[in-house]
Amino acid sequence: MYKSILVPIDLANAEKSQPMIEIARKLGGEGSQILLLNVVEEVPSWIANELPEGILEKSRQSARSELKAMANASVIKAKVEVRSGHPYKTILNVAEEVGTDLIIIASHKPGLQDYFLGSTAAKVVRHASCSVLVTR
Ligand code: ADP
Repeated sequence: MYKSILVPIDLANAEKSQPMIEIARKLGGEGSQILLLNVVEEVPSWIANELPEGILEKSRQSARSELKAMANASVIKAKVEVRSGHPYKTILNVAEEVGTDLIIIASHKPGLQDYFLGSTAAKVVRHASCSVLVTR
């Protein structure tokens, strides 16, 4: 049904990721591309300069390994991508870049039922140029 599905995953709250991947599997047809994306938030340069050398690259590598493990744990063949930047802008940029026709995003952190939408989810819903499915 959808040819290119983007699933942004917040690794600090990864509990909802398998249900999101399962929805992607159901909504994607044969031959559809599923991309799991984590955005590592950039730290200001004055903080980055104080950090041990290579630590940011290490955190990107460990994020990539976590995403790969999630992809392997599911029955689908998902691709994984880790980017640095501002989460909602990066999610929208990657969606444009790869020609995403559906973004599947969680509504907010687990346990925050009173919130309508988290800040990243709300901006993605408002600004995406493709369909967005919000999971609860
Ligand atoms: P909250 O404000 O409760 O943390 P968010 O809107 O930030 O809620 O997060 C909701 C969803 O947005 C996450 O489950 C995930 O799908 C996506 N998201 C948030 N941060 C990131 C991130 N750094 N990388 C990828 N996806 C993210």
